[in-house]
Amino acid sequence: MHPHVQKLLGLQKVDLEITSLTKDIDLLPDEEAKRKRRLDQLERAANESGAALQKAEVTSRELDSLARDADAQINKLNERLNIVRNNAEYQATLFEIESVRKDRDTTQDDGLKILEALDGLKATAITTKEAFDADRMVYEGFLQEAEKMRGERAGDIAASRQKRDAASDGVPPDLLREYDGLYKTRENIAVAPVLNSYCQGCYNKITPNDSARVTGSQTIVRCGSCQRILFHGA
Ligand SMILES: [Zn+2]
Repeated sequence: MHPHVQKLLGLQKVDLEITSLTKDIDLLPDEEAKRKRRLDQLERAANESGAALQKAEVTSRELDSLARDADAQINKLNERLNIVRNNAEYQATLFEIESVRKDRDTTQDDGLKILEALDGLKATAITTKEAFDADRMVYEGFLQEAEKMRGERAGDIAASRQKRDAASDGVPPDLLREYDGLYKTRENIAVAPVLNSYCQGCYNKITPNDSARVTGSQTIVRCGSCQRILFHGA
């Protein structure tokens, strides 16, 4: 085997180790972002339903207080009826009582409607808050697990990266760049064996000329179909 190809084959072994060590860790940021988006959505829903409940409770109290004020005013007007001096004043007071009463009835109706809605709003506020709290616990558990996994792997990954530096030592920079590109774009197989004239990276047949060059090991041979770097398999 050509000495550079030999080196690249060793490098590929180390790279496969690194890939398997980092594969699931590399997925963590996306997973974390996805989970965070869902958590944020649940938080917004909980906040919104909490705010809707609070607003309804405030409005309900306000309407209650308005109705009580109106009742007090009606009482006062009723008392005035006893001391008015003439019929015109009496009629005017009656008219005013009627007007205040009408307003109070409207206020009470509005208040009742809100009271009826309160149970539903409370239930929604509780459900959405519970959903948020439950998901937050799951999310925090995920973060802890992710951190643990990163911590446990850190040593192995650092060791593999060191091995990688040693394995790539002596490979010409251009060839190393070519190898790195192939490793990324060819499913982690940049260097592939040739068996019975077939590239084992893409399973296409290579030319007799290339086959002879691979066996000869004097030059670096690429597969004409997939461009992988080839070596004589068996
Ligand atoms: Zn190929």
